[in-house]
Amino acid sequence: MDAPFSHLTRAAHLKSMAEETVDLLVIGGGVTGAGIARDAAMRGIRTALVDKGDFGSGTSSRSSRLVHGGLRYLEHGHFRLVFEASRERRILRKIAPHLVWPRSFLFPIYAGGKLSRWKLEAGLWLYDLLSLFRNVRRHQMLSKRAMQRAEPGLRSRGLKGGARYYDAQCDDARLALANARDAHRHGALVANYAAVERLETADGRVRGAHVTDLVTGTERAVRALVVVNATGPWSDELRASDGETPALHTSKGAHVVVRRERLGNNEAVTFTSPIDGRVMFVVPWGDLTYVGTTETESYDGLDELRADADDVIYLLRSANAIFPEARLTFDDVLTTWAGVRPLLRQQGTDDPGAVSREHAILESSTGLISIVGGKLTTFRVMAAQVTDAVARRLHRIDGRPVADAAPTHKQPLPGGEMRDLDVLIEAIQAEGFPYATAAHLVHTYGSETPAVVRIAQSEPKFAEPVVTDHTTLWAELVYGMRREMAVTLGDLLARRSHLFYAAPERTLEQAPAIAQLAVEEMGWDGERRAAELRVYQHEVASSLSFREDLWADD
Ligand SMILES: Cc1cc2nc3c(=O)[nH]c(=O)nc-3n(C[C@H](O)[C@H](O)[C@H](O)COP(=O)(O)OP(=O)(O)OC[C@H]3O[C@@H](n4cnc5c(N)ncnc54)[C@H](O)[C@@H]3O)c2cc1C
Repeated sequence: MDAPFSHLTRAAHLKSMAEETVDLLVIGGGVTGAGIARDAAMRGIRTALVDKGDFGSGTSSRSSRLVHGGLRYLEHGHFRLVFEASRERRILRKIAPHLVWPRSFLFPIYAGGKLSRWKLEAGLWLYDLLSLFRNVRRHQMLSKRAMQRAEPGLRSRGLKGGARYYDAQCDDARLALANARDAHRHGALVANYAAVERLETADGRVRGAHVTDLVTGTERAVRALVVVNATGPWSDELRASDGETPALHTSKGAHVVVRRERLGNNEAVTFTSPIDGRVMFVVPWGDLTYVGTTETESYDGLDELRADADDVIYLLRSANAIFPEARLTFDDVLTTWAGVRPLLRQQGTDDPGAVSREHAILESSTGLISIVGGKLTTFRVMAAQVTDAVARRLHRIDGRPVADAAPTHKQPLPGGEMRDLDVLIEAIQAEGFPYATAAHLVHTYGSETPAVVRIAQSEPKFAEPVVTDHTTLWAELVYGMRREMAVTLGDLLARRSHLFYAAPERTLEQAPAIAQLAVEEMGWDGERRAAELRVYQHEVASSLSFREDLWADD
């Protein structure tokens, strides 16, 4: 269903939130908070969801974009997590096939490496077993020759063979958005750019929050029977304001994006960095490849995250060691992103890689429910458990029946109402779109693609690409504003579309024209237009600022 979900919806929802007492206020519109709002709304719980930025603009658009069982968690014995994550991989591919798709990974074995062939094989059998052999396919062990055939650019010195195994890749930002939209579709009040400045308490119990509309500056009190803190890496901030001690162990992870032809990889590759032995990934994304990730515990601040020169050097050196002919340099880096893992604090380990990706639901003395830890792959399970806790609390508050679990595992997310994407791609081609455009649209919008096509057909300009040589159409930006609550240029270019990652500097050339479209579609005035352009320029500059770090050190 193509229900309006625009800046107008946002304004109306913020107003409604202040006019009634909702059952549940979810703070944080990353994949976890949006998933909770979806689950709760599906159970008939009157829900409000707010995020101080865009949906997914926190960690949920800065991940490695993998919906995975987590092969490396086997090393630390986290079997339950791998089992759960493998099941989620299956479910998410079913309810959102356009946003979560299969991806094959090659895992090379090198002489002197910490992983032997038999250990890898045993691990991959266990990986397949924990997915009940219902992964895309079973793993295959490969000879040295087969590895070289599959990935000719791999370092051949010391290569002893390897394996191919399967996981899934996802569009993380759009997955968070899809959950927020589905929450709205089930009746939730949903708003991005709505920051919780402080919690409202009465008689020692949390009763809501003070929410500021960051577009208009309007402040409102939102009253709620139950409040959930789903602010990911920010959750300790909110917990601290509620008198609680820290629950998180955070670490920064960065990625670099290069043109795929520079590495020449055909598939994704899992490898251990020769610098520190950490497991890393090289992952295709259309014509691009991203390399990740780093794991460092120091960073400038949650709201100023960026990949710095040290991050980029580490990633390029690691990638060059495994693809030696590539000789990647700073000049090859199209863009970067960095996020902070909101991991559950654990006693007795200094190794951030060994910290569990398990999650916990914490209830403070004021009644604030916080969800901490976890990973993108398992957000739906986390959401169901939090919503169970909310349903029980609502029952204690007003005696209503405890709401039954919602069928979030089988109800498609928006755009997911079809399994066979190829049929739709053919249908879109029949409308006169080239294959690449049709495939891009269907893999982005799934069963909602016809709505984007209708916009493209409404005006010749909308059927054109925003940036030459890239498939994203002007129609997608219009759709983002009319149907996906895009509010800023960054929303349109980094999270509704991903042009920001493919051609950041070229999007800057188009930014004034896109801002003009926002004037027409969303009524921006001159001041807003100028301010939005400045913010977007800053976002692009920040993603490329690692280049300046070297000079700054001189
Ligand atoms: C580098 C990296 C790679 C990763 N790769 C993977 C992967 O491949 N697969 C995987 O499964 N997991 C991965 N993860 C983990 C995964 O990305 C996170 O666990 C997940 O995205 C967390 O989602 P969240 O909704 O809990 O947090 P977030 O996405 O950070 O959402 C929290 C939201 O709260 C909002 N917020 C904060 N304070 C306030 C406030 N006061 N008022 C209103 N809103 C507020 C923020 O704006 C933010 O949008 C990775 C993480 C990192 C950092």
